[in-house]
Amino acid sequence: MGLLILWFLIWAGVCGIVASNRGRSPLGWAVLGFLLSFIALIILLCLPNPIEEQAKLSRLQREAEEAQEEAEEARRRERDAERGRQQAEHEKRLAEIKAAEIAAAETKACPRCAETIKRAAVVCRFCGHEFEQSVQSA
Ligand SMILES: [Zn+2]
Repeated sequence: MGLLILWFLIWAGVCGIVASNRGRSPLGWAVLGFLLSFIALIILLCLPNPIEEQAKLSRLQREAEEAQEEAEEARRRERDAERGRQQAEHEKRLAEIKAAEIAAAETKACPRCAETIKRAAVVCRFCGHEFEQSVQSA
């Protein structure tokens, strides 16, 4: 009788330790181990491990968060690139307008042949039209 009780006590201890390692009530499983011996251990091992489940869940959550952060980062990079492109485009347009203004300031249209010639020109290089001094200074 003493040996039998010892046998069940050993199973109670084993079940308690295994249950504790798997995130389950050690006392409850020690009682079950005492009553059912190795059957309790088999049941315990067949049950899902709450610690592992929790770890898996938090790992998945972490991965999802990381993926979200990466997507956010990619969107931010894309926005920055788009802004850079627009900025470059804007500066290019400004430079073009400025160049056109400079060209317009330095040129004039010949009244006879309508070609664009330098503002300071006295004679048209296309048709030989001679400009009046008043026209040149205007
Ligand atoms: Zn001309």
